[in-house]
Amino acid sequence: MNSEKIVPKKQQKYRNFPMVPKVIFGKGCFDQLGEIIMPKRSHSDAAFIFLVDDVFEGTALAARIPLIFNDQIIYISANEEPTTAQVDALVSQIKTQFKEAPSGIVGIGGGTLLDLAKATAILMTNTGNAAKYQGWDLVQKPSLYHVGVPTISGTGAEVSRTTVLSGPERKLGINSDYTTFDQVILDPDLAKGLPHEQWFYTGMDCYIHCVESLNGTYLNAFSESYGEKAMELCKEVYLDDKLTPGEAREKLMMASWHGGMSIAYSQVGVAHAMSYGLSYVLGVRHGLGNCLVFQYLEEFYPEGVALFQKMLKKQQIVLPKNICASLNDSDLETMISVALSLEPLWENALGKDWSNQMTRERLKQLYLKI
Ligand code: NAD
Ligand code: ZN
Repeated sequence: MNSEKIVPKKQQKYRNFPMVPKVIFGKGCFDQLGEIIMPKRSHSDAAFIFLVDDVFEGTALAARIPLIFNDQIIYISANEEPTTAQVDALVSQIKTQFKEAPSGIVGIGGGTLLDLAKATAILMTNTGNAAKYQGWDLVQKPSLYHVGVPTISGTGAEVSRTTVLSGPERKLGINSDYTTFDQVILDPDLAKGLPHEQWFYTGMDCYIHCVESLNGTYLNAFSESYGEKAMELCKEVYLDDKLTPGEAREKLMMASWHGGMSIAYSQVGVAHAMSYGLSYVLGVRHGLGNCLVFQYLEEFYPEGVALFQKMLKKQQIVLPKNICASLNDSDLETMISVALSLEPLWENALGKDWSNQMTRERLKQLYLKI
């Protein structure tokens, strides 16, 4: 008998995490999607379901989606960040509509659509509701084959092992080895025509991932190598005049990938913890929320904030003001509680003694600046 003890994942000293096993990169590579998924079609009745940001409805991109047999496109708005209830409804819709289990799920869009695709793929093969799996390593069975096609760069959702969902009780990811995409299509041309402000906010998510990872106590050579590269690319994209728009799209796409890889083996920090609170109470979107918070974090990230101010100016972005000014005490307290509940983020940012440094009052004063 083997007397070796099996150590539960959470107690293991080093995490053994999955990476995306297949990735294709290049302008126009989206057109290879049909050929890529063909071997994954179990038979003609087992459809591919394409979850697509509704901003693409009726566009040339939609016409290029390689539909055959009874494949289906489901258009979804990215105006709201994804919820567990939305995932449950999608899974139920797909299961009711298709007698045969689908061959796979393809998510086309930003972090919102990518996260919805990951969560739907998990819930197609695991029983119960999505909220049950919010947390770490709670998913039992491999998910349905799923492909991610980012159309905006920055979140790193294309490479991460999490899908961030707002649930009945909290905003928390389904972090698991089965969350990661089986295939990613990195076609920089898909981000053509993005509104300037959205391009900035989502790209800054990547920049802030780098600052928080590179300045965190969890930093190690693995995270540093990816974080430094992503940081260098962000600086080129947002501060260098010499790049063509095409070069900038390619570089930001790779920055997002490297930024995601950097935090995979470290953690984010103060801006993300506070931004989760903002988003939970006020519904502020992730990229914008990070920017709103980050501008006031010079005491934690002096160099990072100075460079961020330079990027804001160069890109002529004016952030909204007085977001928290009219909040009542109860909302502020909820925001503070949500932020403080993200313990690993604070520990990464401030060290093991973080709770003595970041009191509720100090956090409140920071929120009131926004
Ligand atoms: P998004 O998906 O929320 O989209 C932002 C806006 O851009 C939407 O209005 C969308 O319609 C539009 N858009 C996207 N691509 C476009 C294009 N090519 N042309 C025109 N408009 C386009 O944006 P996001 O910032 O990528 O994602 C935010 C979400 O990602 C949040 O829900 C956040 O929680 C999540 N997130 C996930 C991870 C992860 O690792 N899973 C990491 C960070 C953030
Ligand atoms: Zn982020």
